[in-house]
Amino acid sequence: MRRMFKRILVANRGEIALRVVRACHDLGVEAYVAYSEADKDTRAVQLADKAVLIGPAPSAKSYLSMPALIGAAQAFECEAIHPGYGFLSENADFARACAENDIVFIGPDPDLIDKMGEKSNAKQTMKKAGVPTVPGSDGPLESAEQARELAAEFGYPVLIKASAGGGGKGMRLVEKEADMEHQYQAAKSEAKIAFGNDEVYLEKYLIHPRHIEIQVLADKHGNAIHLCERDCSVQRRHQKLIEEAPSPALDEALRQEMGAAAVRAVKEVGYTNAGTIEFLLDAEKHFYFMEMNTRIQVEHPVTEFITLEDLVLEQIRIAAGEPLDFGLDKEISPIGHAFEFRINAEDPDHSFRPNPGKITKLILPGGPGVRVDTHIYEGYKVPPTYDSLIAKLIVWGKDREQALARSKRALSEFVIEGIKTTIPFHLAALEEKAFKNGMVYTDFIETYMSEYLA
Ligand code: ADP
Repeated sequence: MRRMFKRILVANRGEIALRVVRACHDLGVEAYVAYSEADKDTRAVQLADKAVLIGPAPSAKSYLSMPALIGAAQAFECEAIHPGYGFLSENADFARACAENDIVFIGPDPDLIDKMGEKSNAKQTMKKAGVPTVPGSDGPLESAEQARELAAEFGYPVLIKASAGGGGKGMRLVEKEADMEHQYQAAKSEAKIAFGNDEVYLEKYLIHPRHIEIQVLADKHGNAIHLCERDCSVQRRHQKLIEEAPSPALDEALRQEMGAAAVRAVKEVGYTNAGTIEFLLDAEKHFYFMEMNTRIQVEHPVTEFITLEDLVLEQIRIAAGEPLDFGLDKEISPIGHAFEFRINAEDPDHSFRPNPGKITKLILPGGPGVRVDTHIYEGYKVPPTYDSLIAKLIVWGKDREQALARSKRALSEFVIEGIKTTIPFHLAALEEKAFKNGMVYTDFIETYMSEYLA
């Protein structure tokens, strides 16, 4: 067995870079942080054992530059690279380049990234493992004609989705046959631009579903477990804004059923490290596999709160060859209830448009059950270059009601001045009766908060 790493290179930025630094330090591992010229003043850089400048602000020349990152890991003798989420975290070529240079990529094997990254093929793999999938095409579509035939079979509306998809890009809703040709071509060209791959597939569009995902961990010794679900139904344009665990829609039986399906999926493909199996749950409580994310997710802290586990630390332990050492023979059940609110540098009153700039005043919330993961501080300048996530507020309560009360309190305490953020949106969401009652569906914002879609 490999011993624990001495030094890890963090190949990311923002709150997740800081999160990885913290996990390293909890393990007694040195954290070297790769940073771009735009990020020299972030908390991760300040707390790193060493910060390594890898290039200019544009991510193509820094956080997406494989030679710069591999070179930095070699120059500073880092034995492993943690890719965080986004950037190169689901890039099989990067994982391969790490392996070729004798650097451990903290994530699954490159072949598995490939296998799960092609979403239409991943669905076929899951079908074989006996996991229910959203009804749709068997693999990629060959023509708009084929799409029309399949849609006639499943019934409209249908979705055309990019095989290489992510972040809701390359996804088009088709409501009637007359729109198919146009939407098919539109999805293809959008996918080509976003992912350099214009392969698309078709799925029946489920009405009023919930987005429920299962967190899994698998080590290199054949052990795999699930750590319950997250409900990520509050989305704007297919992008998550609020997540919670456990889901108000699941009872213990359905939780264990979905968890078992996720573990079956993981074992079928021989997956290792942390991963997430995303499902849609329909009104009749049927669940369907949608996709697998082969990395740590933004919303992982809600799972940490309700399982008392440290997922990033486990990722590092697994990559170092250590076995999972908890809960292997018993079912993990959630402890209490947790919410995560994504605080983005965006103006919710103006279509959530990005609002970078200098933070002139910052007061973080605190008190029982409150955790803030953020790389910002007073005086920090949010650069316009990257994703607009600037903080995550995660709140725990012994039950959903307490978690809701603490969420309201914490969001009200949170002061960020100088830029607009999503905090007012979250406070408004908490006032919605449907949200309070746990009636969250992927069309929650459209239905109850449509003023935010304008
Ligand atoms: P991406 O990888 O681009 O984020 P996903 O496949 O994860 O795309 O889907 C993102 C969101 O889009 C889901 O959480 C859900 O809200 C919606 N969605 C995706 N597929 C379907 C479907 N077949 N029916 C209804 N909604 C869907």
